[in-house]
Amino acid sequence: MYLLSFDPKSSIIKTPSSTHFSSLPLSLPSNLTMSCYKGKYADELIKNAAYIGTPGKGILAADESTGTIGKRLSSINVDNVETNRRALRELLFCTPGALQYLSGVILYEETLYQKTADGKLFVDVMKEGGVLPGIKVDKGTVELAGTNGETTTQGLDALAQRCQKYYEAGARFAKWRAVLKISHNEPSQLAINENANGLARYAIICQENGLVPIVEPEILVDGTHDINKCADVTERVLAACYKALNDHHVLLEGTLLKPNMVTPGSESPKVTPEVIAEYTVRALQRTMPPAVPAVVFLSGGQSEEEATCNLNAMNKLQTKKPWTLSFSFGRALQQSTLKAWGGKEENVAKAQAAFLVRCKANSEATLGTYKGDAQLGEGAAESLHVKDYKY
Ligand code: 13P
Repeated sequence: MYLLSFDPKSSIIKTPSSTHFSSLPLSLPSNLTMSCYKGKYADELIKNAAYIGTPGKGILAADESTGTIGKRLSSINVDNVETNRRALRELLFCTPGALQYLSGVILYEETLYQKTADGKLFVDVMKEGGVLPGIKVDKGTVELAGTNGETTTQGLDALAQRCQKYYEAGARFAKWRAVLKISHNEPSQLAINENANGLARYAIICQENGLVPIVEPEILVDGTHDINKCADVTERVLAACYKALNDHHVLLEGTLLKPNMVTPGSESPKVTPEVIAEYTVRALQRTMPPAVPAVVFLSGGQSEEEATCNLNAMNKLQTKKPWTLSFSFGRALQQSTLKAWGGKEENVAKAQAAFLVRCKANSEATLGTYKGDAQLGEGAAESLHVKDYKY
């Protein structure tokens, strides 16, 4: 067996022999080459992914599909029409002081092209606030035939063209949500492989078109399992995802990971944030390359306060953490805001105050300095779990 060493300056492979090193030009047999994306967007992808992972900042996931936002609006008796969806998003994006705590906002296609009541594109509001606009590019899940209700995510058809269009409109990163579930025999190897492969195809298509892909393999919290089971499954799923991302030549430095935190199932007794932090960071240490700049957790049905405290505990943990640990929360950033707003113009300032509280608290949690002092807005402690959640 040869031991090969590579000198990046000379592009020379050195092969040790018993008496001397011989130099060969770089031409490895194809089964030994491993090249990741280095096309025209490579530097920009690395820069934008690193920016999103700036400590002290995180992502607001405001990319609920029309159906999902409809459920949120109906919980406050507001009609699911374009004007109301736009008004809610304006309330969030234009909250005075909030954008300093954010590095990215994920949008749904409709919102990418919407404007404030004063006629300014939301995308421009974000740019001025130092926030990168992102876009949800998946088209939801469908059942995998022959499985016990497991799913695969759709949206690869014409994805390159859509990414080009979104880049032109100002988007600089993308999200694709793959969903796995824990049950007696689930996730199946088929579901793990299929979803890892789909995420990798999506990721490389995004990179070829200038968008930083957020890789989101969400393992649903639904179930009676304990935290050890969630840790095992999370490690298997993340290992498969990084194998697929490497196989597909994805530039890891130009990606972000959006995983679930490692927790007991929704029908199991709760554990403390310190335990969640230990299990979650250990799962990442075992599977996630240091080349990836940041992990941006989803909140997955945790209450606002739980999600913040869990993130804070991870950032307080003294152990190896070569990536920024931050947030990309949807429900856990918006719930108390939504309740305070109630669809009424006169409540906008109160709702924006609630949103600012959560943004600041989560910013502190990325630094491990959150003291638990966020005023508890109405709904901040309430579980946001929805069984079999669709985004
Ligand atoms: P939650 O934080 O509400 O789980 O949503 C985040 C998200 O973007 C899921 O894809």
